[in-house]
Amino acid sequence: MTATVPGASALLGLYARVGPVFTGGEGVELIAEDGTRYLDFTSGIAVNALGYGHPVIRDAMTRALDTGLIHVSNLFRTEPGEVLAAELTGRSFADQAFFCNSGAEANEAAFKFARKWSRKTGIVAFSHSFHGRLFASLAATDHPEYQRPFLPLTPGVRILPLGDRAAAEAGITAEETAAVIIEPVQGEGGVRPVADEWLAFLRQLCDERGVALIFDEVQCGLGRTGTLFAHEQTGVTPDMLTLAKPLAGGLPMGAVLVTDAIASALAAGDHATTFGGGPLVASVAVEVVKTIAEPDFLASVRARGEHLGSGLARIAKASSKIKSVRGRGLMWGVELSVPAAPVVGAARDRQLLVLSAGPNVLRLLPPLVIEDADLDRGLAVLAEVLA
Ligand code: PLP
Repeated sequence: MTATVPGASALLGLYARVGPVFTGGEGVELIAEDGTRYLDFTSGIAVNALGYGHPVIRDAMTRALDTGLIHVSNLFRTEPGEVLAAELTGRSFADQAFFCNSGAEANEAAFKFARKWSRKTGIVAFSHSFHGRLFASLAATDHPEYQRPFLPLTPGVRILPLGDRAAAEAGITAEETAAVIIEPVQGEGGVRPVADEWLAFLRQLCDERGVALIFDEVQCGLGRTGTLFAHEQTGVTPDMLTLAKPLAGGLPMGAVLVTDAIASALAAGDHATTFGGGPLVASVAVEVVKTIAEPDFLASVRARGEHLGSGLARIAKASSKIKSVRGRGLMWGVELSVPAAPVVGAARDRQLLVLSAGPNVLRLLPPLVIEDADLDRGLAVLAEVLA
């Protein structure tokens, strides 16, 4: 379908955009300009956790707009950011929060905080990682093809093989390493839940060697895996946690949650961003966090996740194209023996939106408010395109 909206060619062609022009959204569906409804198992890549048109977001935005404050400089105090910081720290290991505008920005900030706190420079990430597209976060992202055109990236960043204890023992050092960063469930790198034992091993190594452990929950955090934070299920606590995607209900926002120990190394002026944690985005984020953190809401994500996981396992039994199925909560990967892109296209032709994560993995990230009947609708399409 071709777009009837003028100006598509005026957008810098950095995205391989596909499908129709979307002009609306309702619940778990995106609506194209011709009225066709698409069941959305992408949630704007884990952003639209509450789906489209959710009253909590609409009401929070309306109330915030009524104050007249969309932005107030971080040179002054406003209430929503302070309330949000209290909400997030009150529900986590963390003592203080810093707000920015994206996942990559959150990770870049966490790297700076780790360097200042440790007075060291090295940053260690792992294979299959994705931490963003800015210079340090890209250096920590295990995608040589994304990195190559932009070399040199931030020096001091290394990627070690995930799960290789000897490599970690040698590569994470008391002398040089400031931070270790890892996604508890890797997203872009193929939807891979990381073993609890590996996270516990990293925790111990970081403690022994004076290294800050950063969990990147930009994609897997905030209810996606069935607990408010993905690491709650692992028994391991980081020194810093980065969040973004669903935090402000689709408005751009990132966060770094830190312990008092990290915070004590930071002073006014060490880091800053003009828009970070402004009153409009923070007002919406407060309501999103409160909604997701409700025990009933999280229990529902876990139940819907089990429903999706068992449905995928059934499809896998009947399909020679599926090698394995893995996930937590409402974050699932289907590893295929065939390329993922044609399957994504075939699903879209049947009005189901899904993602890939690497060349052979289908990634499913439905809105957290989805119901079993809509999961079943999507599963039926997947069964058809993977038959
Ligand atoms: N970290 C993880 C785990 C991500 O999945 C992403 C984006 O997909 C990022 C960081 C970067 O976030 P952003 O695109 O908001 O910069």
